[in-house]
Formats: sequence, structure tokens, C-alpha cells
Amino acid sequence: MLNLVLFGPPGAGKGTQSTKLIDKYNLVHLSTGDIFRHNIKGETELGKLAKSYIDKGELVPDEVTISMLESEVKSHPEANGFIFDGFPRTEAQAGALDKFLTANNTAITCMLALTDIPQEELVTRILGRAKDSGRADDANEETIKNRLNVYEKDTAVVASFYQKQDKFIGINGVGEIDTIFSSICSKIDEVSNS
Ligand code: ADP
Repeated sequence: MLNLVLFGPPGAGKGTQSTKLIDKYNLVHLSTGDIFRHNIKGETELGKLAKSYIDKGELVPDEVTISMLESEVKSHPEANGFIFDGFPRTEAQAGALDKFLTANNTAITCMLALTDIPQEELVTRILGRAKDSGRADDANEETIKNRLNVYEKDTAVVASFYQKQDKFIGINGVGEIDTIFSSICSKIDEVSNS
């Protein structure tokens, strides 16, 4: 199985690259943000809970996020592999994912991290996306700043988790979408042929 963690701060381009990667590698895309938004739209209990955190730019609690992610993985027994987008976002989530995948006789192949994107560029990209996405958390600059702070405080450490396992691959996230996509693909091909 090819199991990829696509990593980077809000606005890094994870969603954009995921869409291209699932086509090329025939993977199942699991974006925790998309799943939460789907639940918010459907006004489920999970959606109501998630909304109260997302609107403030805070993380949804680990317990809730981990069990949701695990049931999504279980609902795709036929998958060739997964792209985890927006997960894991804390060290606890990373540990839980490792444990869960091991119990299912598989593992993370590598983490692909979109790096070196200046904060101002992230804010500009997110505000630009807000025009089409209709996402309340994209439209408010204070919420965006909080998401970027939460990323630094709780999420950035997840990179070290995979560095320690020698599974971390950094890719410069500034440039044309297709150029970044090509860099990601050559890294994936290197890892899967080794
Ligand atoms: P972005 O990467 O632009 O922040 P996402 O769609 O990945 O957008 O996430 C939107 C929001 O959903 C996050 O700000 C957070 O509140 C919540 N969320 C998404 N994934 C997780 C996660 N793994 N753990 C906790 N909260 C999450």
C-alpha cells in the first residue's frame, strides 16, 4: 500500500495537490477538514461539535478526530492506499495513526511536507480561496492568524515525528502548481521504487 501524509500549514496547497495525486496514484483521499465540512453541511452531531472549533480556528479534539479518521479508513477496505490530508495534526494523532495502521498490517510510506511558504503568502492564498470556498474560517483574517499559530504550536512537531522514522520529505511549496506536483511525484516514485 502507498500511504502518504500530505503536510503543511493552512493554505500550503495540500488540497490542490491531493486532487492531482489521487488521480495519478489511484489513492483514497481522506481530508479531515473536508469530512468535518461535510458533517457541518449535513448538520450531524459531529458537524455541530466540529463547527464550534473550526469557526474559531482551533483544532477539533483529538479523540473525536482520531475515531472519525479510523472509521473512514475502515470504510475503504478495497483501497490501494490513502492520502491523509490535514491529518495527523498533533503528536497524539500521529501516534494513534501509526498504531492503527500497524494493527491493520500497513504503515505510512512517507510524509510529503510543503515547506518554505512565507506567512503573508499563506494569508493571501487563504483569503483568495475564501471567495470561492465560502468557508467562514477562510474569510476572517483573525481566524486565519489563529490557525497559523495553532499550526506552529501543535502541528509543526508532527514533522519531527516522521523525521525520527526517516519518513520526512520536504518539498518547496512556492511556485507553479504543476511544478510542485512534479516534484512530489518524483519523490513518491523514488520512495516506492526503493
Ligand atoms: P486548512 O489546512 O486550510 O487549515 P482544513 O480543511 O485541513 O484546512 O482544516 C480546516 C479546520 O478543520 C482546521 O482549522 C481544524 O479546525 C479542523 N481540522 C481539520 N483537520 C483536523 C485534525 N486532524 N485535527 C483537528 N482539527 C482538524
